[in-house]
Amino acid sequence: MHPQFNELRLTGNLPSPSAAGLKILTLTSKEDFAYDELIKTMLADPALSGRIIKIANSANRDGLPAVHTVAQATMRLGVRAVRSVALGFSLIADNRRGAAKDFDFQQYWSDSLATAVAVHMLAQVTRFPDPASAFTCALLCDVGKLALACVHPERYSAIIKANTGAPDLALAKVEAREFGIDHFEVTSELMEHWGLPGEFQEVALLRAMDPDPSDDDLVDVGGPPELLDLVRSGRQIARVMNGSWEIEDARWRGLFLSLQHVGEELAMDPDALLSICDAIVPSLEDWGRLIDLPVPSAGSFQDIAAEMERRGMRSALISTTFEIGVDFAEEAAEPSVFQEDLDRPLLPLDSFSSDGQAPSRILVVEDDPQMLRLLAHHLKRQNFDVMTASSSSDGLSMALEHTPQIVISDWMMPEMSGVDLCRTLRRSQAGSRMYLILVTACGDDEQVVEAFDAGVDDFVGKPFNPRILLARVGAAERAIQLRERAEAAERARLRQVTELGIMTRKLRAAALTDALTHLPNRRYAMKRLKQEWEGMHRNGRGLAVTIVDIDAFKRVNDQFGHDTGDAVLRSVALHLQSHTRGSDVLCRLGGEEFIVLSVGGTAETASLAAERLRAAIEAKAVHHGDFHESVTVSLGVAIATPEMETFDDLIKAADEALYEAKEGGRNRVCSAGTAPDPASGRQSDRRSA
Ligand code: GH3
Ligand code: MG
Ligand code: MG
Ligand code: MG
Repeated sequence: MHPQFNELRLTGNLPSPSAAGLKILTLTSKEDFAYDELIKTMLADPALSGRIIKIANSANRDGLPAVHTVAQATMRLGVRAVRSVALGFSLIADNRRGAAKDFDFQQYWSDSLATAVAVHMLAQVTRFPDPASAFTCALLCDVGKLALACVHPERYSAIIKANTGAPDLALAKVEAREFGIDHFEVTSELMEHWGLPGEFQEVALLRAMDPDPSDDDLVDVGGPPELLDLVRSGRQIARVMNGSWEIEDARWRGLFLSLQHVGEELAMDPDALLSICDAIVPSLEDWGRLIDLPVPSAGSFQDIAAEMERRGMRSALISTTFEIGVDFAEEAAEPSVFQEDLDRPLLPLDSFSSDGQAPSRILVVEDDPQMLRLLAHHLKRQNFDVMTASSSSDGLSMALEHTPQIVISDWMMPEMSGVDLCRTLRRSQAGSRMYLILVTACGDDEQVVEAFDAGVDDFVGKPFNPRILLARVGAAERAIQLRERAEAAERARLRQVTELGIMTRKLRAAALTDALTHLPNRRYAMKRLKQEWEGMHRNGRGLAVTIVDIDAFKRVNDQFGHDTGDAVLRSVALHLQSHTRGSDVLCRLGGEEFIVLSVGGTAETASLAAERLRAAIEAKAVHHGDFHESVTVSLGVAIATPEMETFDDLIKAADEALYEAKEGGRNRVCSAGTAPDPASGRQSDRRSA
């Protein structure tokens, strides 16, 4: 045990599970615990029972009937998983608040739950063998932070405050300096303390290391992801869900890069990943209700992706060029790696022949050399592509390396029996797809049941009759072909869903973009303003809008034609954009009017920014045909005030200020509701140039 962990433990303030959780832990810590007792303990806590039943049902992707009782749920999930799940939930129940004032306990659990639900979903779609355990591992993967907050409320509070927004690795360094142990280590120790599986502790400790870049070369496209990959990926998805529309482009980019990594890590095509992420949102809301925790409501990932496209950021998640409304021609010139991903099936199916042209690849595993030769001989005569292994460990590594479609294995072998070989293969993604035939002399019913439980598909008796062997292999080939056809159909369906998703996203982005200037349009401006208006009430941050109107624009049209008018509009849009602060949003409201939304600004900063826009436009001549002039703009600025009931009032105030600017002679900034500021001289005393 880590010596510092022992100190933490001795304070008696470590987070601990609820009474029911503790009882389940102690009860199941013995090998021969009473099963009925376990069920009774869970039943005594109805909330816990409900959650366990839910996770048993939501883990069900194989079309099994829904479970309705705790006993059925325990049968389905296994005692080990139930134990972990019970522990996780009972920790949430009893550790929702604490003395550390800058540690947000509620947020901590919401983040953890979001990670857990994301990991659960990823575990299911990647056929990870034990999704329920992955859920718990993710739920508790940062429990060390909670522990530090419980044991050292004041000191940890100060650390959290001083390191807001710092990455976990940086935070861990500070923790180690202050406490001699970091939250990764505390997590691992606590997991051990509670008797959670060793893999959980490994995940906790490995998360403390930067992913080793050299690992990327070794990406195993065949196998199911490791628990660590799942937890890392789930964490990234949870981060995106917690992101908000207000954040700046750089952070958006960061979030999307992290999703890109998730896709790469799990060998998933970007649109499949987006659909999965979208499925996580309602599932998380469900869990939030069940556990009574607020969860992030980022909206759909397809929406986020549309927003991303609208902001002109190409990312892995934008797998095709975007022709409608927004011109990504330059970016599209660079080939997208992910287009290839799109063309690739979700699972590595290439090892399977689809129309039976290539002969089936068969691996024979047999420790008796004579028997091995005989089996191989009969199969080769039928033109199968045969590999042989003379021990179960060789068989296992050859199976994983060469992914044969069919494995024929002896039962009795030293090292590892054929049944154990099957069991091990079934845990890997590649192995889960193989057709496994066991060759055996033993016909004992118990053993046969055991073998089927381990995932064996069929038997051949020993000594074997070659005709029966070949008939069995023929049946295996038919089963494989049927599955391949079903998979091809599923891929086609997925492709359609994907294409539909891309179309929807493109259309959504187009619907929010102005075709002439490529700026966000009025619809977007109103949508965004509504969000910022609500955000302002939540976060208490200021909100300002500035309406910009080109002066005497009709004259440009009248004297130089509509084309020149359009060119002027485009040029003004471009210059406004390049002088708009990164945190502000510029949209075209319509005609020759634009709007700037500034979050967090004061009246003063908003009018300073407006003045910068005014000066920039005035200073820049537009050249188009015979037109070589600069135009001017008038700007009306308004800041949200407590008297305003809706954001319409805010726009109205800015409109009135704009009207005042026009009345005052144009080419000037006016602010609503504020007395002209004599010091700045920027209110209504600037004459037109
Ligand atoms: P003020 O200084 O009072 O704003 O005068 P103004 O001429 O700019 O204002 P007014 O509202 O009278 O005229 C706006 C003109 O903008 C009228 C309309 O033809 C023109 N307009 C609106 N949309 C477009 C467009 O997309 N392209 C072009 N070329 N002109 C447009
Ligand atoms: Mg043998
Ligand atoms: Mg106008
Ligand atoms: Mg005008």
